Amino acid sequence: MVYGETGTIPLSIIIESRMVCFWHKISTGLNTKLSYRLLYLLNKLNNINRYSSPWLINIERILSTCNMRNIWLDPKSCKPNWLKNEITQKLTNIYKQTWLNEINRKSSCITYRTFKTQLIFENYLMFPEHIKRITITKFRCRNSKIPVVVLGRSIIQIPYENRTCPLCNQNEIGDEFHYILKCPVFQIQRQRYLENHYLIDPDREKLSELFQSEDFDILRRLANLITEINRIFK
Ligand SMILES: [Zn+2]
Repeated sequence: MVYGETGTIPLSIIIESRMVCFWHKISTGLNTKLSYRLLYLLNKLNNINRYSSPWLINIERILSTCNMRNIWLDPKSCKPNWLKNEITQKLTNIYKQTWLNEINRKSSCITYRTFKTQLIFENYLMFPEHIKRITITKFRCRNSKIPVVVLGRSIIQIPYENRTCPLCNQNEIGDEFHYILKCPVFQIQRQRYLENHYLIDPDREKLSELFQSEDFDILRRLANLITEINRIFK
């Protein structure tokens, strides 16, 4: 979720891209250079099953993962700049797909995936009041103590559908949607902080809309409501 909120890619992608570019630079360099000769020896030892270099195993793995095995077999078939851009882009695309699969698979992301569908920077992180910014971030990322989180962490893992709200008699799951838009216990605070649009016929689409808002005034009031919720679940 941290990568999701900031829209960043893991450092490992930059490292792997640099590893491949470094290998490519040596492979396509002058054959009189010491680095070229050492790489030549490593390849030869590998071919006669005397020694397998972990570094070269990794280079081959990265290129194969990116469907660029032809570069492994013939490094001179591409230019350095092209390779750098291509490998970074392919590793990024693979990571984005993995990230999306994780978000769609994990039960802890049930609410998160309704308002977060792309690995892009969230503009609410530019909100100038850092305490309120942190409040929103933590709530979005389920770093809170609402029932759906706490009852999932308990020793006896309570099934998701049984993590109901203990404050009201609506028998609904105590999740972000329930507390931001439904639970009657927070109705007064909700009327104080949210626009009428969100109060009438609340549904998950409205919650998603609220969390995706880039209006600083709406975000400020949302942070205040979350603070009131957190005050009960501390
Ligand atoms: Zn409730």
